[in-house]
Amino acid sequence: MSDISTALGNIRSSLPEGVELVAVSKFHPAEALREAYDAGQRVFGESRINELCDKIAVLPDDIQWHFIGHLQTNKVRRLVGTRRIALIESIDSERLLQLIDDESAKAGIVSKVLLQVHVAREETKFGFLPEKLLDFFRRRAYETLKATHICGIMGMASNTDDNKRVAADFGMIADIKRQIEILCPDLRGFDILSMGMSHDYPLAVEAGSTHVRIGTAIFGERS
Ligand SMILES: *Cc1c(COP(=O)(O)O)cnc(C)c1O
Repeated sequence: MSDISTALGNIRSSLPEGVELVAVSKFHPAEALREAYDAGQRVFGESRINELCDKIAVLPDDIQWHFIGHLQTNKVRRLVGTRRIALIESIDSERLLQLIDDESAKAGIVSKVLLQVHVAREETKFGFLPEKLLDFFRRRAYETLKATHICGIMGMASNTDDNKRVAADFGMIADIKRQIEILCPDLRGFDILSMGMSHDYPLAVEAGSTHVRIGTAIFGERS
């Protein structure tokens, strides 16, 4: 067995039933994804549009592609236009959400998205601040969307070895999702809590994550 299929097997067996594994394949060549595919993996996460399009062109059609990177507004049309994105996980502003909605309506598709919340300490990370996100739902701003389904939220913990801090961050993200559900009991299909990466996913799962996004632990270091 290859390293990739062994790693996938080990990670899958460590995940509770019902937790989805998103294999984050950014910066890795299509052959590496093919190995993971042959080991049964169907959900892949990519963060750059050019790289994603190159991989879509050469890999099987039953792959579910998740976009997990920071999305520039001038790339939205191209991303939506692929008609191949199962989930855009990294919506970090209302402006971006509106653009995705407009482009999806034009393309005649419904885009599934997650709103990214920013709780981690690092200043470089993107996402709605918790108050902004709650305000979005309090205003029921989602009701005007024509062609976008908000399926849940995505977040990252602080990048630190302090497990208490990481667990607290994941707890906060999970709590924000619960608060949204209380504010908007009419929301349908708001089920996804995407959190946890190679170095912290066990803590994310403990806090209630439904989708873990794991790259390095499957494919090795990115060059
Ligand atoms: C790169 C990336 C991951 C995967 O990180 P690893 O540490 O390689 O598991 C997960 N989520 C997002 C948003 C990423 O950009």
